[in-house]
Amino acid sequence: TNHKSWMDSEIIEPHVGYKKVLVTGGAGFIGSHVAEELLARGDDVVIIDEINDYYDVRIKESNLKQLQDAYPEKGRVTIYRGDICDRDLMEKIFMNENPKWICHMAARAGVRPSIQDPFIYIHSNITATTLLMELSHKYGVENFVFASSSSVYGGSKSAFFSEDEVVDYPVSPYAASKKTCELLAYTYHHLYQLNVTGLRFFTVYGPGGRPDMAPFKFIDRVSRGVEMQQYGDGSSSRDYTYIDDIVDGVIRSIDRQHNYEVFNLGKGEGTSLKKFIGLVQKHVGKKAIIELLPDQPGDVPYTCADVAKAKHMLGYTSLIPFEEGIRRTAEWYKKTYAVDDNEAEIVEQEIIRSPVS
Ligand code: NAD
Repeated sequence: TNHKSWMDSEIIEPHVGYKKVLVTGGAGFIGSHVAEELLARGDDVVIIDEINDYYDVRIKESNLKQLQDAYPEKGRVTIYRGDICDRDLMEKIFMNENPKWICHMAARAGVRPSIQDPFIYIHSNITATTLLMELSHKYGVENFVFASSSSVYGGSKSAFFSEDEVVDYPVSPYAASKKTCELLAYTYHHLYQLNVTGLRFFTVYGPGGRPDMAPFKFIDRVSRGVEMQQYGDGSSSRDYTYIDDIVDGVIRSIDRQHNYEVFNLGKGEGTSLKKFIGLVQKHVGKKAIIELLPDQPGDVPYTCADVAKAKHMLGYTSLIPFEEGIRRTAEWYKKTYAVDDNEAEIVEQEIIRSPVS
């Protein structure tokens, strides 16, 4: 039968009213967008970010500056810089700010770099999440929401990834670190009744998107007429999720205090690499120059989210069609980087990474 375990779960009503939310990784792509939305609706935000140089730090600095400029009043957005594994710093933040809602977005992302340097993923993903849950228990946090990833489905044989599937086959240290966070989250719920929700994001893109990820890279390379890499024959397909949909799903999760749940947040639809490149060409208005490369270790041939659980329990629906998302992203890119043929002000990224994360 198609009966899923969550179908009988109680539907949690959203908590309405003011919140002070600690957003870890709030200088990053997803964290800064979530912070912006929380601030817009009247919540206060505390950000902790180490602003590491995984990609151009100027992007992160500019994300923070935009938030501060938009909400200059004291207490609206408070920023701490440092490592979330620094226990003294984190204790100080919990004591000074007393946040009751945690939106934990900080992590080392990226599949391929995790194969090169797994230990940084153990540190920034596993140690960090454990410390945050430890402190959340100690300081009586109401709700702990954290970023997991579609990469936990890595070795799955199914075409449509559902949370009911037991996924025990991470194919990269990054995926293993996210799966470990989910396991520890269950433990913290079990031991201390911490309310925890893990969100498995499916390749997120949009304005402000990460320069190490395929959607940004493709738009950037095609805009500048620079050769881009295509891994595999173009038939591989991904579930790409527009940032606004992700922000909506994250905020719905912050507002509902589930005991322990994991949700897919995706579009619920795969797009082939071929079609993706076609749409980029259409909306950038130039032809792509493509270098064909074989599939990379750790890459997954397809990802597609089953979002029925998030729909049922969070009221989540993905609203932005893929083509519209690409159109908006290309438009943002043009405005931001003012591409003057071959004179874009982009810092070339050393890291070539899988579009799956
Ligand atoms: P991002 O790299 O833009 O943001 C992460 C932020 O965390 C960065 O600003 C970084 O400086 C900060 N950070 C990392 N380690 C830290 C540490 N030890 N201490 C303090 N700050 C630290 O990435 P993103 O795309 O915004 O991703 C947000 C979360 O979503 C991550 O957990 C990521 O693994 C997850 N995720 C993202 C995607 C995606 O497609 N973007 C997909 C699946 C999961």
